[in-house]
Amino acid sequence: MIEMILGVDIGGTNIKLGIITSDGGIVEEDMIYTDAEKGPAYAAARIEDWYRKRKGDYPGIGCAGIGCAGLIDAEKGFLYYSPNLPEWVDTDLGRIFAERLDLPVTVENDVNCAAWAEYKMGSGRDSRYFVCITLGTGVGGGIVIDGRLYRGWRGFAAEIGHQVIMADGPVCSCGNRGCLEALVGAAAIVDRYLKQDDRPDSQSSGKGKISVKDIYEAAGAGDQRAAKALEETGKILGIGLANIANILDPELIAVGGGVSGSGDMILEPARITMKEHLIGDILSPVRVVPAELGNKASFLGAALLALEKY
Ligand SMILES: [Zn+2]
Repeated sequence: MIEMILGVDIGGTNIKLGIITSDGGIVEEDMIYTDAEKGPAYAAARIEDWYRKRKGDYPGIGCAGIGCAGLIDAEKGFLYYSPNLPEWVDTDLGRIFAERLDLPVTVENDVNCAAWAEYKMGSGRDSRYFVCITLGTGVGGGIVIDGRLYRGWRGFAAEIGHQVIMADGPVCSCGNRGCLEALVGAAAIVDRYLKQDDRPDSQSSGKGKISVKDIYEAAGAGDQRAAKALEETGKILGIGLANIANILDPELIAVGGGVSGSGDMILEPARITMKEHLIGDILSPVRVVPAELGNKASFLGAALLALEKY
């Protein structure tokens, strides 16, 4: 009987990790640098270090769940593609981590992990047909159908950020044009704000100086241009949500990630546009809500998915 799980969330910059009880309680959590360019074996060694210092205190740890950004075959624990971790691709992460940690290990896409945590103990806990979207630098997704994580044929499902909204739109990180991510990701929101014509000089500081957080704080303080940039972003997001709703008929869609800190300034126009594009009133009950677990969702979900398997 597994009492505790090591949960790990590997991103391009940071690794979040923690020790989680079988009912989802966090007993320890920490963050270390990924040092992605040094490769997965180096990261695994440092995670092992972290774990060894603590495992004496928590003898109930029986498995580890690893969440990682990228296209992952969860059955094999294999990472095929990851724009954030280019040195890590084509790697058998499951084997590397299992050997290092001497534990049974699962490896899963980080947003699938976040969706699973939101489904089990966050915004989606009362629904069985649930979609979670993360808005940030990238736009990711996770899908729960009838209480099970939907991974698709090879484990690559739920790339919600790469649905094409505008075929001749801006180039996306994936190389295609007009993906949802290229239109509502953080860089697109900053662009949208900066491109507004009547912007006074006082706000004309260039790209890289303004973050999405600055924009929603400005909007909250009454800056109409910032509010308009967020509203337009929400309208585009709403088209993406309508596509999801028309295909999957979910009960609930949760929106998380850094950009979602703007709350209803993006979500309310998104709800309105989504409803305009639903195929009929029959789908209108689908609710769009903020995610609840913040940046803890991925390592929590990774741990809970490992528990599910072992
Ligand atoms: Zn794309």
